[in-house]
Amino acid sequence: MLLRLHSSVTAAELDAVRALAGELGYRAQPVAERSDLWVLECSDALPNGRLHAPGHPARFLDLSAVAEVLDRGAVRERWQRTPARAQTVVEVAGVRIGGPSVVIIAGPCAVEDRERLLEVARGVRDAGVPLLRGGAYKPRTSPYSFQGLGERGLELLAEARAETGLGIVTEVLDPRDIEKVGRVADMYQVGARSMANYALLSELGRTRKPVLLKRGFAATVEELLGAAEYVLAGGNEAVVLCERGVRSFDRVTRNLLDVGAIAHLAGATHLPILADPSHAAGRADLVPSLARAGLAAGAHGLMVEVHTAPAEAHSDGRQAIDLATLRRIVQDARALAQLDGRILASLGATPDAPHSSAAPLNGRAATRPRVS
Ligand code: PEP
Ligand code: MN
Repeated sequence: MLLRLHSSVTAAELDAVRALAGELGYRAQPVAERSDLWVLECSDALPNGRLHAPGHPARFLDLSAVAEVLDRGAVRERWQRTPARAQTVVEVAGVRIGGPSVVIIAGPCAVEDRERLLEVARGVRDAGVPLLRGGAYKPRTSPYSFQGLGERGLELLAEARAETGLGIVTEVLDPRDIEKVGRVADMYQVGARSMANYALLSELGRTRKPVLLKRGFAATVEELLGAAEYVLAGGNEAVVLCERGVRSFDRVTRNLLDVGAIAHLAGATHLPILADPSHAAGRADLVPSLARAGLAAGAHGLMVEVHTAPAEAHSDGRQAIDLATLRRIVQDARALAQLDGRILASLGATPDAPHSSAAPLNGRAATRPRVS
């Protein structure tokens, strides 16, 4: 790792650089020809290819002497894909995301009432989809819009799981709700609006329950990965990314599904990535096409919004597909999965063994979520 120091650096600032280097197990020495360039080498304390923990560039950048970290060298962030860590598989209620199967999560935008939720849940189960989504806590643009049913919504999700056997994915908005939501959720959803809520991400890093992290609508891929790093740095390795469309100048669709980002992420990180065609399209008629595009770009699965009476939906009704369309998307996903040697995950049955062209597992056991 190379540090470029400000030319005005003082002796005291240099001492601070040396002290931090020593603390982190580096030996700091100046590059001979240029007094403003320092080389930091691994000390003997980290022999034979052992890597320093991530986060060191940021710690050096916090020092007033340091203008730039020029080369990350042996320092890696936890989200990075490496030969030794090619693909993480996150297990959610027995369903493995990131492995050889394609996983669909489907359900209403929000939990609205008991009958509607159970009706949609039964339809999702009957379509062969293993995971049910639905927000009990809704982040809305206006404080006067429907905010979700809160605790009552969580109770209804628990009832839907008990009746159908579906795993539950639901959003947590507030760090204070993590425990309460976690009693029902098999996977926490962090919405686009919360992607940069670092207090929430850090707290989720202390749990061992899977986190579905949605990309902010104006967030770069680097910012999404930085957000994931907050969860990973806390020790929670069960992170799944979700591309849900970014804001664009065109209003034909609600957002622009960034399939380039999906293709990039599938190679850049070992974390699984899902596509959310519903929030990208903002219109039900385009959801099947964008679902296919997301899978073709390399997504490990989909999250889609389904409703049995979209016109009556409390939120996101325009983009809600009906159950017949969900069944069509399931068929499409099955066909696309087969094309590249994967299969579609179904309720209670996902394969364990890596399939022919699926990315190799990372040599560790799949991340086992622990219900806290
Ligand atoms: C949702 O999944 O219903 C949602 C609010 O999505 P996003 O955070 O991507 O807007
Ligand atoms: Mn929604």
